[in-house]
Amino acid sequence: MNLHEYQAKDLFRRYQIPVPAGAVVSSPEEVTAALQGLSTAPWVVKAQVHAGGRGKGGGIQVVADDVELGAAVVALLGSQLVTPQTDAVGLPVNTVLIEEATAIERELYLGLLIDRAEKKLVVMASAAGGMDIEAVAASTPDKILTAVIDPVTGLQGYQVRDIGFGLGLSMTQIRQLHPLLMALERLFHEQDASLVEINPLVINKNGDLLALDAKINLDDSAVYRHADFQSLQDPSQEDTREAKAQSLGLNYITLDGNIGCLVNGAGLAMATMDLVQLEGGKPANFLDVGGGATAERVAEAFKLILSDAKVNTILVNIFGGIVRCDLIAEGILAAVRQEKLDVPVIVRLEGTNVELGKQLIADSGLDVIVADDLTDAATQAVQLAGTRA
Ligand code: GDP
Ligand code: MN
Repeated sequence: MNLHEYQAKDLFRRYQIPVPAGAVVSSPEEVTAALQGLSTAPWVVKAQVHAGGRGKGGGIQVVADDVELGAAVVALLGSQLVTPQTDAVGLPVNTVLIEEATAIERELYLGLLIDRAEKKLVVMASAAGGMDIEAVAASTPDKILTAVIDPVTGLQGYQVRDIGFGLGLSMTQIRQLHPLLMALERLFHEQDASLVEINPLVINKNGDLLALDAKINLDDSAVYRHADFQSLQDPSQEDTREAKAQSLGLNYITLDGNIGCLVNGAGLAMATMDLVQLEGGKPANFLDVGGGATAERVAEAFKLILSDAKVNTILVNIFGGIVRCDLIAEGILAAVRQEKLDVPVIVRLEGTNVELGKQLIADSGLDVIVADDLTDAATQAVQLAGTRA
């Protein structure tokens, strides 16, 4: 799960990682109150969306006085922000962060992430901060400094000094970098993060280090360990279908294709997507309705799949182990009738009461195709999706 910049900076403050003073507003009326705790102009107005590259998209505006501030807040709030990291629709700006502007001497990059090959945390740093770090890593990998953290000892002082010298910091700045990096490591572990990034970490006019931007990803699997994570979620920034699926307890991920897949069991869902690909088709989604697939859940799943305009064919693959195939068949038929489906549905059923289930579908008079087996189902789905595309 992603955090907004302002939420990440709140966490930074708790760990004594220096950030600029700031306040968030979600309506222009709140601006006056927000300025109470801040020094006088200039300020920076920062759109809070779950995407980077905001600077390039007009989501970061330095303002010189109250009038410019008001105008920037009004312009950003309620808008859709498109950045190099979003799609063409962009993300809704419901909150903006107003910060005291920082006079910048240098922009550095600092990240703490999981190196899956090393199976360890790794600190990444670069003097080429403020820009697209992926591009820096690709074109000039020598500009990226790394320090792999030994999980037994934790980050060591010599590693901090290596990075500090590599970044060209003064001794005073390295003395600031040390507690900053140690705090970052502690935050990473205690908050179950999967990524922490400060881009840019700046050196201000006084020569001090300051986290000007903050990005934190938290491990979804650890949400249950943190009572406060729930309140940090912002569904407005998530794929609407994925958010809807989450509220229904369905495991759903939007993909690019046109074949909607409705499957029970994550492994079976993966196998179904593999087969669709093998036959030359493209799945529109991953969807696992779970082991206890009931008629109601199947109906909800149909609705979810159909809310994606790309879908022109639906492939249902249910193994009736715990559930009976005749109940599932009834659920499918009810959903097809209720939703007045105008896309073909191919069903592969296997397991308890499978013959009864297939019979129910055949007798329904509805345009639902019963496949012989999974390969047959995938072949037919790909063919139909192709002719309708
Ligand atoms: P991002 O584009 O989404 O990564 O947003 P950032 O918070 O990193 O801001 C983008 C850029 O805006 C930074 O790299 C800075 O160059 C600039 N910026 C942000 N805040 C300030 C500030 O307080 N003062 C100045 N001078 N520039 C700023
Ligand atoms: Mn940034």
